Amino acid sequence: MNIQNRLVTTDLTRRAELVAAIAAAAADGVDRETKFPAAAIAAARAQRLLGILVPTELGGEEASVSDVVDVCYALGRACASTGMIYAMHQMMVAALVRHAGADPWHRRLLRRIADEQLLLASSTTEGQGGGDLRKSSCAVERRDARITLEKSATVISYGAQADVLVSTARRSADAPPTDQVLVALAAGDYRLEPLVGWDTLGMRGTCSAGFMLKAEGEPGQVLPDAYHKVHTETVMPVAHLAWSAVWAGIAAAAVERARLFVRKAAGKGGPPPGAQHFTRASATLTSLRWMIASALRRYETAKSDPQELESLDFQTTMNLLKVNASETAIAAVMSALQACGLAGYRNDGEFTIGRHLRDVLSSSIMINNDRILSNVATTSFLVDVPAFLTDQHRHDAKIAIEA
Ligand SMILES: Cc1cc2nc3c(=O)[nH]c(=O)nc-3n(C[C@H](O)[C@H](O)[C@H](O)COP(=O)(O)OP(=O)(O)OC[C@H]3O[C@@H](n4cnc5c(N)ncnc54)[C@H](O)[C@@H]3O)c2cc1C
Repeated sequence: MNIQNRLVTTDLTRRAELVAAIAAAAADGVDRETKFPAAAIAAARAQRLLGILVPTELGGEEASVSDVVDVCYALGRACASTGMIYAMHQMMVAALVRHAGADPWHRRLLRRIADEQLLLASSTTEGQGGGDLRKSSCAVERRDARITLEKSATVISYGAQADVLVSTARRSADAPPTDQVLVALAAGDYRLEPLVGWDTLGMRGTCSAGFMLKAEGEPGQVLPDAYHKVHTETVMPVAHLAWSAVWAGIAAAAVERARLFVRKAAGKGGPPPGAQHFTRASATLTSLRWMIASALRRYETAKSDPQELESLDFQTTMNLLKVNASETAIAAVMSALQACGLAGYRNDGEFTIGRHLRDVLSSSIMINNDRILSNVATTSFLVDVPAFLTDQHRHDAKIAIEA
């Protein structure tokens, strides 16, 4: 990737660090009281982090997904819920940026995201359908040049706090469940009637309650590209990269606690018996960081080539990134817990790993790994096992075959 396309200059790093410090200070309270991390999101707005992906011509900074992923890691390290809220917001901004085209309604929205630092939430989960993003039951209905949408949106993170809601739905009342579109709904376009609360093991600050969504708007609010394309090219890869970065951030925070525990114990008479677990935690975190960095490079190279984005190999890689990153992040946090022993298992004290473990356990549930593995299983055997280790050889081999 061209380094000049990256915004991760000291400026973005400094802004992300400022927000992360505020998020870290509030993280225990956010978790304990299941409350939206209002101070951290206000700081993200003040630092203008919500609109960084928006093109410069619409008032944004035209940042890359790599920039976003770096911010997700920093925020996830400070407060998992803040990091995940930021990641979910950016996956929907990325969808609008790539798929709005010249559409005036969505271009106006993008300008508002940059100017007003609007926060976007997403609604894919419907009824008891779990994480099957590729099917909708609700439909966009058209009447008298208006559209309406009613959805049993059983999980919408920070639905009550968001400024804009982006929802999947069937294209029309007579469309099959897989013929989906994405609809953007601004404040005033929709009402949320509470269905179910959010009292969970971890990620408590995402406030992912369930609602009956009732919306009305204009036909232009439906994104021009079909959801199949939006999902394949943008939502799935960007979500999996950004979420993985948040989970890596959680793992990094746990590993840092384990490091401090081992260092303190070592200062009192040599490394503690659990020091080997810290070594394992640290090595696992390194693998996780490399895994995400490598997938990120692949995405940045592929992003301007829709054929490559839709290729089986790319789709499999990005789907499995989510599964592998979640399993590896959980393993890193578990090793950090082992390194700290009882001091990590306690809910109090400077070395507690409790919040990190509870938060990171959401990773295998958030679009269930079983569902992804069984979906990938239907096609993954069609992808050749690589003949070379490095991307360069893979790339050279592909060119040779094409020639
Ligand atoms: C922190 C967090 C935030 C979230 N935020 C949002 C949000 O903002 N908006 C939104 O729409 N949704 C959100 N979700 C919901 C998410 O998108 C999924 O809908 C949800 O995590 C799926 O939960 P599930 O495992 O119960 O469902 P399912 O995927 O239906 O899985 C249910 C059970 O069936 C098993 N299973 C499912 N499919 C298969 C299969 N093919 N083969 C074998 N076993 C299978 C699973 O192992 C699991 O035990 C969020 C979830 C979390 C954890």
